[in-house]
Amino acid sequence: MRLSPAVRVSEYFLPTLRNDPAEAEIVSHRLMLRAGMIRQESAGIYSWLPLGFRVLKKIEQIVREEQDRIGAHEILMPTIQSADLWRKSGRYDDYGKEMLRIQDRHERDMLFGPTNEEMITDIFAEHAKSYKDAPLAMYHIQWKFRDEVRPRYGVMRGREFLMKDAYTFDLDAESGRHAYNKQFIAYLRTYARMGLTAIPMAADTGPIGGDLSHEFIILAATGESKVWCDQALLDFDLTNADVDLGDRAAVQGLIDQLTAPYAATDEQHDQDAFESAVPEERRVAEKGIEVGHIFFFGDKYSKPLDAYLDTKDGARVPVQMGSYGVGVSRLAGAIIEASHDEAGIIWPEAVAPFKAALINLRQGDDGCDAVCEDLYTKLQAAGVEAIYDDRDERAGVKFSDMDLIGAPWQIIVGPKGVKAGIVELKRRADGERDELSAEAALAKLSA
Ligand code: ATP
Ligand code: MG
Repeated sequence: MRLSPAVRVSEYFLPTLRNDPAEAEIVSHRLMLRAGMIRQESAGIYSWLPLGFRVLKKIEQIVREEQDRIGAHEILMPTIQSADLWRKSGRYDDYGKEMLRIQDRHERDMLFGPTNEEMITDIFAEHAKSYKDAPLAMYHIQWKFRDEVRPRYGVMRGREFLMKDAYTFDLDAESGRHAYNKQFIAYLRTYARMGLTAIPMAADTGPIGGDLSHEFIILAATGESKVWCDQALLDFDLTNADVDLGDRAAVQGLIDQLTAPYAATDEQHDQDAFESAVPEERRVAEKGIEVGHIFFFGDKYSKPLDAYLDTKDGARVPVQMGSYGVGVSRLAGAIIEASHDEAGIIWPEAVAPFKAALINLRQGDDGCDAVCEDLYTKLQAAGVEAIYDDRDERAGVKFSDMDLIGAPWQIIVGPKGVKAGIVELKRRADGERDELSAEAALAKLSA
């Protein structure tokens, strides 16, 4: 999907707020509301406004590229599902009140999908019959609904939220394990591209079931999970995730290396084991945000939903499955928790709604307008995603709004500079400013 390369604030919908909304308890929620990224429609249900939508699409695209890179195929399943499938797996009753149940006009029981194990197993089962149909991995990026007891923290714990969920199908447990491992690697790559250090932690499997499972957690004071881990995990160089996926042993080796240091969430934590495994100076006890969760559950769904494959020697075996979730909309909030300052959001370039904000300090001044218009056209031509603050507003308002929305770069054009033939290029992350010609600024941003 292609996002428009450049916009003018005067023609955009950017409803920024000067003051902190009272309902927002944590910084990411506050900043998303103040930057005009989202609007709450009901508890835990949000509209994504233009700025927020761009970020959501960027996150989604990184997730997609890393799934494609490990050979998973994208599909799209519906949000509304029939209750019958869920009765077969037994989860219609197990899921409890988190599931939004609906009846259609014929009084058939339907539901708004909280996840898709049943549906994808049924899709697979109808068409896949033999060992030749495996291995296979499919995923979709679709809205889920879970009627959370306590929706809060904005998009971090919503009721309607966007998730990438992938599913793998293998003939035997060994190749199923490899499929799991490939997803594991894809997750490391996905979060690293977003500028996040996500720590894999052995996890409970909960209502999804199965016995092999990891959560991917980023550390943040506002996280809902308590986590304990070895500092070594935070220092690990994720460029090492560049492993040959065809080499099963190498992949397993990397995962063993990454899961060897102590790392546990609440349910799995054992203080004595932690203290004996990790020297005091490397003990990290913090809170974290779960940004992904992967499961290998073997035949838990294939048996009840009748997804069997004929083997080469004529046996019939239930397909071995795993499922793999990424909280796409939660990530928008999680990235802000990890990257902001007093003035607002500091987007990592890979997910920034715009790479640069062009700030005209004296709208209506012929010199400033001419330089800005020229830059704006050239930024577009160079494919640099830019937002041009061309409003008839005081410089202070523009500075604070552009700091708030957090484009990684700002090009500041004022009357004095224009006379001297220079503009200012400011890096949002550290405020570092460079004075240079408009051409040089453009060259730097297009590089
Ligand atoms: P949690 O423990 O946070 O409720 P979960 O274990 O129920 O998460 P999964 O079923 O594994 O979550 O879903 C996969 C991913 O979807 C999670 O890792 C998380 O990032 C995201 N997610 C789950 N529930 C929500 C929610 N209510 N709002 C936003 N994102 C969510
Ligand atoms: Mg949950």
